[in-house]
Amino acid sequence: MLASFLFFVLAISGCERSSEREHQLFRGETMGTSYNVTLVAEEGRTLDIDRDAMQRNLDERLAEVNQQMSTYIDDSELMRFNRSEIGQWQRLSAPLAEVLSLSHNISKRSEGAFDITVAPLVNLWGFGPEGEPEQTPGDDQLRRAMVDVGYEHLQIEGDRARRMRAIHLDLSGIAKGFGVDQLAEFLESRGYQHYLVEIGGEVRLSGESPRGDRWRIGIEQPAALREGARKAVALTDIAMATSGDYRNYYERDGQRYSHTIDPRTGRPIQHKLVSVTVLAETSAEADAWATALNVLGAQEGMRIAEREKLAVYMIVKEGEGLVDRHSEAFEPYW
Ligand code: ADP
Ligand code: MG
Repeated sequence: MLASFLFFVLAISGCERSSEREHQLFRGETMGTSYNVTLVAEEGRTLDIDRDAMQRNLDERLAEVNQQMSTYIDDSELMRFNRSEIGQWQRLSAPLAEVLSLSHNISKRSEGAFDITVAPLVNLWGFGPEGEPEQTPGDDQLRRAMVDVGYEHLQIEGDRARRMRAIHLDLSGIAKGFGVDQLAEFLESRGYQHYLVEIGGEVRLSGESPRGDRWRIGIEQPAALREGARKAVALTDIAMATSGDYRNYYERDGQRYSHTIDPRTGRPIQHKLVSVTVLAETSAEADAWATALNVLGAQEGMRIAEREKLAVYMIVKEGEGLVDRHSEAFEPYW
């Protein structure tokens, strides 16, 4: 549901059926959402796929990622790390070590906006496993919770890490993207060069679409921006993520509470940024940066996007209406 709102693949609905290359779709459930994989044949060739084996392989890859990174699996590697003794180094699997160090890197570059230690705050605001709270948290409660929040309390060295405080890691802001990358790598290891992989709105694509040209991906635009207009970008060999304030929230006393928390204030974000789309080499990076820029808001977010040379497209509230903006690195896709 969320995914279809966020983006739509224009290529598959192309009208030139006769010139279309053979393509096959695989889908399933993972990480509380759905995944989609489209595989496209080489020009003039057919796809020779054992569908059952492919489906099993994709599901197994994702099950592995979940067993490493999910907070919904009590004995996942991440949850065991979350219970590990403070100050004691823990050896990590290569994928978890990679995600933790990428997260750390993006935390620093986003000036603390992206922070995988934000879980206690996410839970207090009712977006964790426990669900919506009876009451929104008070200042004292937030202050107490924030003592054990902060990416700087996580130390990483090669393939080991340790907690320097009672921090609790939550990879929801990057794991879907990482899952997409894992599927993409798997497909490449099997020799596939033309594909699109998507989990819950995080997309990565490679090579050519079924029409034999670049993949055309749409970015959903609120009607108020330009009536009926939908922005489409033609992409290949890249990942794309969109975060927005309309995606995951609840309302209480006329206030809107977003599932994205500003780790610096302990509170859900509240600003004029309607949505932010990020293009990056990997889906994990795009995913994390979209969350980070969503926290930073339009102005700060664009400043950091330019500094970090990120390809970013934003939809921003201005007065009664909406405007769109993009970073310099997004210019080629404009
Ligand atoms: P979005 O597409 O809106 O960015 P994601 O699913 O990528 O949504 O990330 C949101 C999830 O990440 C939240 O449900 C929460 O668990 C976690 N999260 C919230 N705020 C932050 C933050 N500042 N940094 C990292 N993760 C966060
Ligand atoms: Mg994200």
